[in-house]
Amino acid sequence: MPELPEVETVVQGLRSRITGKVVDEVLIHDPDLPRNVEPEQLVRKLEGQRVSDVRRRGKYILFELANGNLVAIHLRMTGKLLVCSEDEDTEYQRITFLFEGGEKLVMDDLRRLGTLDLLESEDEEPLSSLGLEPFTDDYEWEEFRELFDTTQPLKLLLLAQKKITGLGNIYASEVLFRAGLDPRASGNEISEEGKRKLFELIPEVLSEAIENNGTTFSNFRDSSGETGNFQDFLRVYQKEGEPCPACGTEIVRVDQSGRGTYYCPNCQDKG
Ligand code: ZN
Repeated sequence: MPELPEVETVVQGLRSRITGKVVDEVLIHDPDLPRNVEPEQLVRKLEGQRVSDVRRRGKYILFELANGNLVAIHLRMTGKLLVCSEDEDTEYQRITFLFEGGEKLVMDDLRRLGTLDLLESEDEEPLSSLGLEPFTDDYEWEEFRELFDTTQPLKLLLLAQKKITGLGNIYASEVLFRAGLDPRASGNEISEEGKRKLFELIPEVLSEAIENNGTTFSNFRDSSGETGNFQDFLRVYQKEGEPCPACGTEIVRVDQSGRGTYYCPNCQDKG
């Protein structure tokens, strides 16, 4: 599943290619894709509109239209947004936006788990309940440290999009390793210094990943169909049984809420 760096990589690619284009026609191949609007209504609201910006909130890709409406897309497991020429088709297309002048944007999604919402503003769900957004002015220490006043294990706390947006399984493991914190420790067991490290490391690790165009294991592609490179820089994620890059102890995998967490039992404690 794409996390903040992969979504940001897609957004940056699309921003330069789509901004300013006018939607000539919308083809909905999968009528189940729009979540909060009827397909015919979505088509009516989009056709003729100019795309004024492409941006990101959490793991959502937002297309801002000239009338202020937002199309919010979440790629989930296998979703891709690809810019193609008019006569190109992709295998698992769910919606196509044809632009004046010939290019088109296709959402291709093998497992069909991606979502699309049409919103009037960011104050609506699913965006309104998202938590602190790294890289913005809202990402403040006083608010951040209060998120740890819980018995929830650290790893799950970092995955909770209502607390901090953007982290998923890969970057939560990587951030906790660099902070030297045990993913199983509960939020309220962590020292002030440990929280401070997380506050600083979250944007640091995410920006390194963005600089490398995200992480690709199997499915992630940017808007040109290219893969990311950050998988070459991961220190613990999917490294079970391999030596810790800091101390040589074998990296361990544990299950937390049905998902794998990777950590070094020697380097990571309660801070
Ligand atoms: Zn270690």
